[in-house]
Amino acid sequence: AHLDRIAAVDGDVHAYLHVNAEEALTTARDVDARRAAGEDLHPLAGVPIAIKDVVVTQGIPTTAGSKILEGWVPPYDATLVERVRAAGMPILGKTNMDEFAMGSSTEHSAYGPTRNPWDLTRIPGGSGGGSAAAVAAFAAPLAVGTDTGGSIRQPGAVTGTVGVKPTYGGISRYGLIAMASSLDQAGPVTRTVLDSALLHELLGGHDPRDSTSIPEAVPPVVDAARQGASGDLAGVRIGVVKELSGDGYQAGVSARFEESLEVLRGLGAEIVEVSCPNFEYALGAYYLIMPAEASSNLAKFDGMRFGLRVEPDEGPVTAERVMSATRGAGFGDEVKRRVILGTYALSAGYYDAYYGSAQKVRTLIQRDFDAAFEQVDVLVSPTAPTTAFELGSKLDDPLAMYLNDIATIPANLAGVPGMSLPNGVSDDGLPVGFQILAPAKQDHRMYRVGAALE
Ligand code: GLN
Repeated sequence: AHLDRIAAVDGDVHAYLHVNAEEALTTARDVDARRAAGEDLHPLAGVPIAIKDVVVTQGIPTTAGSKILEGWVPPYDATLVERVRAAGMPILGKTNMDEFAMGSSTEHSAYGPTRNPWDLTRIPGGSGGGSAAAVAAFAAPLAVGTDTGGSIRQPGAVTGTVGVKPTYGGISRYGLIAMASSLDQAGPVTRTVLDSALLHELLGGHDPRDSTSIPEAVPPVVDAARQGASGDLAGVRIGVVKELSGDGYQAGVSARFEESLEVLRGLGAEIVEVSCPNFEYALGAYYLIMPAEASSNLAKFDGMRFGLRVEPDEGPVTAERVMSATRGAGFGDEVKRRVILGTYALSAGYYDAYYGSAQKVRTLIQRDFDAAFEQVDVLVSPTAPTTAFELGSKLDDPLAMYLNDIATIPANLAGVPGMSLPNGVSDDGLPVGFQILAPAKQDHRMYRVGAALE
């Protein structure tokens, strides 16, 4: 049914870069046969899933939205893909994304943009617009995304889907094509909070192949989602982040947010305002740390080992000239912009002024979270300041594009978990997201509150 749905809608939406039809059907039939034989299967066995194209999949092409990896077929699976396969989940395909996950609109994909199923003239968010659009268009029941500065949550907000960035280290990064290693985190993209919890429990947990993987069991997110669904939030303290509202937030976004606070109050939660004064500097710190780490991570795309190789038109074929020709042809403008920015920020003489200062700001943001979580159980805000904007409208203005992540970035800098869930529609008829943030390793708290609000 999902493959039929993809055939019907994906010509317009373009959520998929690769549809894995044959293997998905084989897995589905195999699971049916095992179920018929009375085998005890995982609860998600047979439920199909779409995977963001930044996650490596053995035998299935993986491009990270870039020409530099066009035609590359990974020889191994990411840990999370191993877990998906072991559970018997058919992999429907790989979803579109901004090149190397750099963007907020999926327009920086080298393979053309994804369109928002709610309005095909609008962006589906980014960088994981493909995963969110696939789920919103009923072209996948579940998907996997990655979130370095908001790429699961902001697409969730603008497509009316649930997106979760677990605590940093909660789901293995082994087999994720790295953007910024200290910020990257994979997570679920679904239509309900409970679906996210089920997927989170499957994908999460310790992985010795990722040195930053949390060596403890996944927090009890499924139980928390079930508990929250009862609608009782008595005794739960919720903090509204003062700095994530006001100027720049669309009126309809703020109105839906206020209404949801009323709903939470009605369910017994105590709502207080909390101030996180250093969040103001989060965007600035992020756009130094992320490009710095990305410029280092992307050095491996050199035309020597895998993917695209371009030799210079004329002159000697030296390693350096092949690298230059390959990277010049293989990377898009946004990737080049960030590699240049990151290389500059890391260069001798500037390191302390830029990268060093940004790391200090990061510590201040972590302290803001620590102080806030002494007062409340979870923090809340709108996920994104606006609803989905028109395709093309921010392409010439990188700063305007970056500002869309103002509310999602603090969580990545501090490593704390974040969830976006649907929060009705704004005055323009487009979906709005409600963000819930919890302390590190307390992911279950946001599932409880999210399921109650849903
Ligand atoms: N939109 C943000 C950026 O462009 C976040 C990206 C992400 O989370 N991968 O960097």
